[in-house]
Amino acid sequence: MEKPDVLSRTVKAARKIVVKIGSNTIANADGSINRDFMNKLADDTADLIKSGKQVVIVSSGAGIAGIATINKWKRKSDLHYKQALCAIGQVELMDSYRKAFAAHDIHVAQILLTNEDFSDTNRTLHIRNTLFTLVDEGVVPVINENDSVSVDEIKIGDNDNLAALTSNLWDADLLILLSDIDGVYDRNPKEFPDAALIETVTDSTEILGRIHAGATNGFGTGGIVTKIQAAIKVNAFGIPMVLTNGKVPGVLARLFGESTRATIFLPEDDDE
Ligand code: ADP
Repeated sequence: MEKPDVLSRTVKAARKIVVKIGSNTIANADGSINRDFMNKLADDTADLIKSGKQVVIVSSGAGIAGIATINKWKRKSDLHYKQALCAIGQVELMDSYRKAFAAHDIHVAQILLTNEDFSDTNRTLHIRNTLFTLVDEGVVPVINENDSVSVDEIKIGDNDNLAALTSNLWDADLLILLSDIDGVYDRNPKEFPDAALIETVTDSTEILGRIHAGATNGFGTGGIVTKIQAAIKVNAFGIPMVLTNGKVPGVLARLFGESTRATIFLPEDDDE
């Protein structure tokens, strides 16, 4: 039998998995929530849970969902309008998650966090306990930054880093980032069609100096740089990270099944 590659071996060995879903994956081009994606995500997550895995979701998309809901505020760029849009969109987002997971008799739970929550020992303890309790009871936590209270000083700023902090806090075995690209390329694949996919990264800090990081795409906030920052954070805790394309139908099932195109970031002692 052929020896499974490092990607397939790593994802199959992981039991506690954080899945982060980027704005471009969760939303259609008009900003409305992509229900087909959401339903398939729920199907695949339910299958993972049945197979004995535990899943925590970190989801972007509140701001976009807010704009799609309250069309008339589209052009208002003031901070308080942006924060109000997130408050509206977060409800739409959670409503979609609730419906998609209800089809599998799985409950979802919302946790909204800011940077401050990760620097206060008391708060981190409570977040940890809540996460452990929810997951032990078969509930899927859906985490997002609390954009309505976050101003620059206390902001994590992007959900890639939030997902990394969550992975470290929960002692995850694997972080999966679902974006709109197959992985990290030597150059931005949206600008350079001949960009080459880097399938395995064994030094997540070094890779930053080796690639050309282009602009973010569509609704994206962090771009490739914050994804590599996330890898640096989790790898330092011995947790591998996979970046792959959420636009690939059934991407999670493929990743845990016959495999799909991706970049895996391996912690130092895991790179054989
Ligand atoms: P998300 O909403 O999923 O977090 P972002 O738009 O923030 O996604 O980041 C992903 C984008 O980063 C890709 O669509 C791509 O255009 C861009 N990007 C820039 N440079 C690179 C690179 N070297 N490799 C991969 N993607 C890159």
